[in-house]
Formats: sequence, structure tokens, C-alpha cells
Amino acid sequence: MKFGKRIIDLVYPPACAVCQQVLAPGETGCCTSCRKEIDHVKAPVCKKCGKEVPDRSVELCRNCSEHERSFVRGYPAMNYVSPVKEGVYAFKYQSRKDAAGFFAAEIIRVHGRELLSLQADALIPVPVHKRKLKRRGYNQAELLARELSNYLRVPVDTGLLERSVNTPPQKTLDPALREKNMKSAFQMTKKSVNYRSVMLVDDIYTTGSTIEACTRLLRAHGIEDIYYTSICIGKGY
Ligand SMILES: [Zn+2]
Ligand SMILES: [Zn+2]
Repeated sequence: MKFGKRIIDLVYPPACAVCQQVLAPGETGCCTSCRKEIDHVKAPVCKKCGKEVPDRSVELCRNCSEHERSFVRGYPAMNYVSPVKEGVYAFKYQSRKDAAGFFAAEIIRVHGRELLSLQADALIPVPVHKRKLKRRGYNQAELLARELSNYLRVPVDTGLLERSVNTPPQKTLDPALREKNMKSAFQMTKKSVNYRSVMLVDDIYTTGSTIEACTRLLRAHGIEDIYYTSICIGKGY
């Protein structure tokens, strides 16, 4: 086993999950220079989505005060800025599946204790559409949830939510259309669920419309408390 792993390391030397450079001996997950650049989400944060806010007197970010938020609270680990931005892109679109371990470890580094204390019944990765899954070969949110599951000892459930329509990339839509589009983007694949609380897992939280759409659906099926965690959250209050 050990020998096999060494061979793999020779053929595919471990690369930084952020900048994709080959790691130096002693480096794990990401390289030393990326480590210095990582912009973790720091207090004070929005009491809903977990985004950084300018000062402690601000309870909610602008986005959360303008839109209904049905989840209890969010736990994003890093700000969506370079170089992590490019790292997440590679994780999502360039088959850097192994980066899931690094990103999960960063979520745990920032929020581990709190996530453990929530005692969620299941981790629910935000699903991608079947067609997209076939093309890409994996759902990055699911890989992330599986890694988080190892830390949190909470099972992953991929059999609850389904992407019902193949939504165009959200960034090409204006916010109002995005919200409308998202409302019908998911469906439940089970009629009844026994969970009291669950944690949604996604790679990036931007406008919140994806998490909100999933939350409403889960709540409508009787799950009381929904949380979410993500690798990144868009910066800017
Ligand atoms: Zn790097
Ligand atoms: Zn917020």
C-alpha cells in the first residue's frame, strides 16, 4: 500500500490545491506561499450567511437583510478571492478532485468546533444536474461533504435532493432572474425524511439563492434546522 502510494506520488506528484504547483517536501495540501495568501473569513460576520461585515454593530450583511433567509446559519471558510478562487475553479472544473481533502480541512480549521456542536443528522451536498454530473464525472460538493463527514462523523445523504432543471451558469443571469430560476431548480427525491437538522454543503456561496432554494424545499418536508457550509463566500458587504 505504502509502496503503491509512492509510485503514484512519482507519477503524479502532489500539487498545491490552490495554485497547482508541485508541493515541496514537507508541504501538504497547499504550498507555503498560498498558505500565506489564504484569506479566511474573520469576525465580525453576518449572523445569517457568515460573510464578513464591516463592524460588530452590523447584524446582517446587505444581501441577507434584503432577502428572506430560511436557513439558521452559514459557515463559509474563506473569502472568494485569489488565489483560492482559482483553486476552487480547478477543483470544480479541472478534475482536481483530490483538493477536496484540503478544502474540507480548511472548513474544519475555521469552523470545526462549531460544526461539531451542531450535531446535524446529515450532510447534504448541493446536487448538480445529472447531465452535468455525467460530463464532469463528479460533484465537487459531494466530494467535499464526504471529506467533511470523516471529520464530523455525520453521514452524507445524496439521495434527498435532485437538480430538476439544467440551469444555465448563474453568473450569466441578473440577480432577480437568478432567484426566480433557482426556485424550481431542485426537487425532493423522497417523500418523507426523518431528519431534524441537516447541513448543506457547497463550494461557493454567492447570492445565496441556491442555498435558500434547497433550504425552503427541505423545510417544506419537515426538516426544522438547516445550516450550510462552503469553501468560499463572495467578499464585499
Ligand atoms: Zn500554491
Ligand atoms: Zn449575510
